[in-house]
Amino acid sequence: MSNYVERVIELCKQNNPGEVEFHQTVEEVLTSLAPVCDKHPEYEAASLLERLVEPERGITFRVVWVDDAGKVQVNKGYRYQFNSAIGPYKGGLRFAPNVYPGIIKFLGFEQIFKNSLTGLPIGGGKGGSDFDPNGKSDAEVMRFCQAFMTELYRHIGPNTDVPAGDLGVGAREIGYLFGQYKRIVDRYEGVLTGKGIPYGGLLGRSEATGFGIVWYAEEMLKANGEDMKGKNVVISGFGNVAWGAAWKLQQLGANLLAFSGPDGYIYDPDGINTDEKIAYMLELRGSGKNICAPYAEKFPNAKFTAGKKPWGVCQDFDVKVDLFIPCAMQNDVRMEDAEKIVESGCKFYCEGANMPTTNDALVYLMDKMTAVGPAKAANAGGVACSCIEMGQNAGHTVFQHEDVYEQLHQIMTNIYNACANAGETYYGNKNALVQGANIAGFERVAEAMMAQGLC
Ligand code: GLU
Repeated sequence: MSNYVERVIELCKQNNPGEVEFHQTVEEVLTSLAPVCDKHPEYEAASLLERLVEPERGITFRVVWVDDAGKVQVNKGYRYQFNSAIGPYKGGLRFAPNVYPGIIKFLGFEQIFKNSLTGLPIGGGKGGSDFDPNGKSDAEVMRFCQAFMTELYRHIGPNTDVPAGDLGVGAREIGYLFGQYKRIVDRYEGVLTGKGIPYGGLLGRSEATGFGIVWYAEEMLKANGEDMKGKNVVISGFGNVAWGAAWKLQQLGANLLAFSGPDGYIYDPDGINTDEKIAYMLELRGSGKNICAPYAEKFPNAKFTAGKKPWGVCQDFDVKVDLFIPCAMQNDVRMEDAEKIVESGCKFYCEGANMPTTNDALVYLMDKMTAVGPAKAANAGGVACSCIEMGQNAGHTVFQHEDVYEQLHQIMTNIYNACANAGETYYGNKNALVQGANIAGFERVAEAMMAQGLC
């Protein structure tokens, strides 16, 4: 690794004490950029990496709301506007009790490269709150969202910063947030994406991330002489991303064998591949903590394993898996899980959630498997469709499902090719997709930053 990269990683750790998730992603990304920085000494002269790891602006605010019992509640709100070199800040809002600056910065930093990979004009940002929507009434969620937007509105705008959903922020929350923004500024603007269809949302946005992941994984297989039909696949998670992936896997004739929820995981030897099963996943999505147990009750051939993740499914049920796709949350796959995946003989691993693999597990998987697809490339379909939604709103028009799917498929193929080409150029390996994604995402942002003078 070049001295410059090592120095900036250390500097970032010192400047952001205790923010371990942010350190993790900075270390992962910058390490793979070393050969690019060696080739471009002008980047060090311009302190480009030091600038990249420092958000352009970070906003922290108080969110005060009243719960159903009449008690005043106080939460923390955040928006980190990381990088606007190639377009307005773009990225989701995450509402979860573990949210703190280290999580929002990790997500915002990843978003810079992800958004750049889409080839569309969107910069990187992320926000959220330590508010937990689970167990709250509709009215409480509404009051919280209104209070959150009452501060956030002054920092965002359709050409400034366009938030969207992330964990804990779905269509309901976006609706309440959008309503409050519109009420305050007194005009309609496409200032949030992931909106409901009747008020400017994009057809196909809900399934976009999951569809994109499967299209990306399909390119990984094709590049290695395989295709998706008949492949045994395991995913983790049960949310939007997992559901969209399950649906596209079904369409491509793959055999989805397992998914997971907070209560454990499901192994369904018949495959989770009928319209009824996919629709049931969608129903379970909004139902709270027990996701897998009800599935096993409804489809009795399915086996429910309580309290475990699906990474040991091959060992637990003596089954062969061709592709693992973690779609739940960060650091879901640790070293011991990666060892089980490799031991099973599986050759392909494609990340769906943001940073679902710890750095040591990722390095191990990259070493042992044929190809590993990184989240910032594979799950970029969600934000790509968000940008299409921004264009739809700005053009006062409506795009049809087929237009959206066609564009998304093309974007995912382009992203795959950009990663594979950068992997080949800098690491001599078209399957070096993790490094390739970081490099391809970085190159565009770096060029834009260098062209715009010091900022
Ligand atoms: N939260 C999603 C992501 O991680 C989507 C962001 C967006 O659409 O702005 O990419």
